[in-house]
Amino acid sequence: MPFKASILTLYPDMFPGHLGLALAGRALERGDWGIEAVQIRDFAEDKHRSVDDTPSGGGAGMVLRPDVLARAIDSIADDGRPRLLMSPRGRPLTQERVRQLAAGEGVVIVCGRFEGVDQRVIDARQLEEVSIGDYILSGGEPAALTLLDAVVRILPGVMGNQLSGVHESFEGGLLEHPQYTRPQVFEGREIPEVLTSGNHAAIEKWRHEQAVKLTRERRPDLLPDQPVTK
Ligand code: SAH
Repeated sequence: MPFKASILTLYPDMFPGHLGLALAGRALERGDWGIEAVQIRDFAEDKHRSVDDTPSGGGAGMVLRPDVLARAIDSIADDGRPRLLMSPRGRPLTQERVRQLAAGEGVVIVCGRFEGVDQRVIDARQLEEVSIGDYILSGGEPAALTLLDAVVRILPGVMGNQLSGVHESFEGGLLEHPQYTRPQVFEGREIPEVLTSGNHAAIEKWRHEQAVKLTRERRPDLLPDQPVTK
């Protein structure tokens, strides 16, 4: 069974978005993965088809109603796929979680809007809150597309050159080494000599050293075993 994403959203037209293009788009056409966007509003039952209401206790904005959202979630067969809620309060997304998700059957993703989602539906449907970073988006849709982008590109057969997944940032707990390509000289700057030496052992060593150096400078938090000097 290919990986399947079911997205609950008030803006189904945002999907597949950029994932309908390039390598992910070709893989989608081939059926290597699948996506369905479910309109939450279709599960509203009052005559105005309202999906939101004012926050209990007062305050600005609107909150997604738990009953409408629960019906939308329940319309998707519970086949064991993880049910995620895109949320700035969630656990920050990591490449490790992306790999776990890509190894599974797929995902169900709830996209919040307004001030967010009634807490009771998060609890009752055991939604796993996932954040894509410490900033606030206007809705969960771009966050869902970001998560799916990261997952889909590592699904079997999606990336042309499978090897290019191996040395990337985070995969070995390090940021990636700098990359170069022709021309040999760009505005007076040369490609580091070792990279054009043909000495593969030396190239590997240089790349590893560069990766460690960059990670130490920019993301010492990724090097838990190394003493960090501040
Ligand atoms: N009032 C909320 C923010 C609501 S933003 C708060 O302060 O926590 C509206 C919706 O956008 C959220 O329900 C969520 O689905 C999505 N969203 C916003 N920022 C996000 C982030 N950093 N990661 C994932 N989803 C996010």
